[in-house]
Amino acid sequence: MDAHTSNIESIDITKIREEFPILLRKISGQPIAYFDNAATSQKPLSVINAISEYYETINSNVHRGIHTLSEEATEAYENSREKVRRFINAQSSGEIVFTKGTTDGINLVASSFGTNVVGEGDEVIISEMEHHSNLVPWQNLCESRRAKLKYIPVNDKGELMMDEFRTMINEKTKLISVVYVSNSLGTVNPISEIIEIAHSFNIPVLVDAAQAAPHMKIDVSTLDCDFLAFSGHKMYGPTGIGILYGKEKHLESMPPYQFGGEMIKSVTYDNTVFNVLPYKFEAGTPNIAGAIVLGTAVDFMERLGHENIHNREMELLAHANKLFSEIGDIRIIGTAENKTSLISFIINGIHPYDTGSILDNFGIAVRTGFHCTQPLIEQRFKLPGTVRASFAFYNTFEEIDRLAAGIRKVKSMLL
Ligand code: PLP
Repeated sequence: MDAHTSNIESIDITKIREEFPILLRKISGQPIAYFDNAATSQKPLSVINAISEYYETINSNVHRGIHTLSEEATEAYENSREKVRRFINAQSSGEIVFTKGTTDGINLVASSFGTNVVGEGDEVIISEMEHHSNLVPWQNLCESRRAKLKYIPVNDKGELMMDEFRTMINEKTKLISVVYVSNSLGTVNPISEIIEIAHSFNIPVLVDAAQAAPHMKIDVSTLDCDFLAFSGHKMYGPTGIGILYGKEKHLESMPPYQFGGEMIKSVTYDNTVFNVLPYKFEAGTPNIAGAIVLGTAVDFMERLGHENIHNREMELLAHANKLFSEIGDIRIIGTAENKTSLISFIINGIHPYDTGSILDNFGIAVRTGFHCTQPLIEQRFKLPGTVRASFAFYNTFEEIDRLAAGIRKVKSMLL
């Protein structure tokens, strides 16, 4: 049966964990409790094996050769693009551009589309909770075009202030770029509403879906977003591969981002005719193995089923919230109604870095610091950093018990 249609009924965690060999590792003599999933997820055997299988059986350059290996590699590469198209429900595979990841996709849009539409005196809107990947490219664009960058404010719960957002839009607004799910707060933003409002003013919207892709079903046709970017490595796939979705009408109108092989149709000494979509945006030899194995990661997620993943992760989050509420001296940063399975916190009086280092001694992997959202943590929340525990469906209740016990130990050692 097609992996697409064979969702399991519910996740058997013990069995699924066996598909992730790294979860058997010990750190400081303890089984690893991996809570840094928002930075990168662990990889199942199907993904790990698909990488060596590619190199063992069909390694060759794509779109160039007439020999069998090249044809097989090209077919696998394009099959994966089609899988991704279906995964996010895009209209055509020409709208699916393979990139290095979310950062690469956003930079592509900022450099190409941004330069086309943003001029002197214009405005771009992002939010106060953006990852540096969805902030610095726009800062740079606005600086070079003498345009203004505006930030949708965030309330104390870590939610976008939508009334403020509505008042920020005017005839100078040329583009809105917003994160779907915050990597530091876990907030799921009302992205459909943002797109609807923006479109009522004919303003295009880019969605940073880096943290949405691992946790929820993305449907670009229903969302009606203009661009959407995500990374393979956060959704159980390899590093160095990602996707930029763009509406065909935009991608057609945009100049190439990089120039060279693959992205051309014909070249003379005098000029070049660019290739059709999506190849116009895929200059040079791509990450062929990464692109093909991203398709394997899509298969894996579809086998589990979005609903199963969501339900499991919400149970883990509820368990963690309950335990955290009993510990005391903990402040959770990001208490939005609609959240993914992530808790950002500080223990009052203890630097996040100290908490993270001690937890590592117990085999517990959390992230500490600004999480690539320095303005949000430092300027908006006035903190030196947070500790972030981000859960994936393969985490267990017992691991979260260990996290809570670890936090109690940190408190007893340092307070
Ligand atoms: N946007 C968000 C919300 C993220 O969480 C991340 C990575 O942490 C990125 C963008 C950048 O992703 P990548 O480093 O894979 O390009």
